[in-house]
Amino acid sequence: MSVLSAELDAKVAHVRQQLRQAFTDASELDDVCLTCSFQAEDVLLLKLALELRPQIPTLFLDTGYHFAETYAYRDRIAREWNVRLINLLPLTTVAEQEAQHGLLYQTSPDRCCAARKVEPLFRAVANYKVWITGLRREQAKTRAGLEEAAPFTLPGGKQVLKLSPLAHFTTADVWHACEELGIPLLPLYALGYSSIGCEPCTSLPLDPGDARSGRWAGRKVECGIHIEAAK
Ligand code: SF4
Repeated sequence: MSVLSAELDAKVAHVRQQLRQAFTDASELDDVCLTCSFQAEDVLLLKLALELRPQIPTLFLDTGYHFAETYAYRDRIAREWNVRLINLLPLTTVAEQEAQHGLLYQTSPDRCCAARKVEPLFRAVANYKVWITGLRREQAKTRAGLEEAAPFTLPGGKQVLKLSPLAHFTTADVWHACEELGIPLLPLYALGYSSIGCEPCTSLPLDPGDARSGRWAGRKVECGIHIEAAK
């Protein structure tokens, strides 16, 4: 076994241990949820979580603006892995929002993300005690200080425990672990995308050294779901 494989195996074992502990501490099935964008790190984490809790509620932010490839891949993984998938819908459909406000993702992406991502996600997460995410420190400067476990205050004041068991994973770790575990990846990666969100706000990376540089064409770096409400 190579040094890299031994190191990676230890990292994966650490993730399994964190998940096992979370599921032991929160023994009720519906106490813990996992959010999944169906990007590589989230699918890796989903795979590891399903080993321990096959019925874990798996939340997907169905903004209505995803790539057709993302929807097809989501459905494939959900079917093949028997995922308990919960699609989170905004209060308005894409057609209603566009009739009322036009193309908000062009004129005001913050308002669009607030309506199609932040509100539905926080509304759903409020139903759980623990929220597991695939966030990693390496993904962006805004995530460099990410903790593996931290309380998170939702709008309205409810606090949940937010776990990010992959916080210390590099992009290479994610890819190698997916390969080792035989996890098929979202086909858009093969076209050169390195971070994949809604189609109108995702391009090929503008800076090869910054995986998220293809998101929102550099106009912003976070959609807001990982930004805590003021306490
Ligand atoms: S990523 Fe773009 S399309 Fe998706 S919710 Fe945010 S602004 Fe709207």
